Amino acid sequence: MAVPKRRTSKMRKRNRRGHIKLATPNLAPCPNCGELRVSHRVCPSCGYYNGKEVVKVNN
Ligand SMILES: [Zn+2]
Repeated sequence: MAVPKRRTSKMRKRNRRGHIKLATPNLAPCPNCGELRVSHRVCPSCGYYNGKEVVKVNN
């Protein structure tokens, strides 16, 4: 069985884990109503996607 020759230092461990984080959702303004919405998803405030209304939003 392969066994590490050297103990991983605190700095090396912390540097590696510096990349572990939650990704923020890619928000972009809706071209129809200007509200922020997640890219490549139907706008939750107006129900538009790709220039036309695809779902009815009651508000
Ligand atoms: Zn919208």
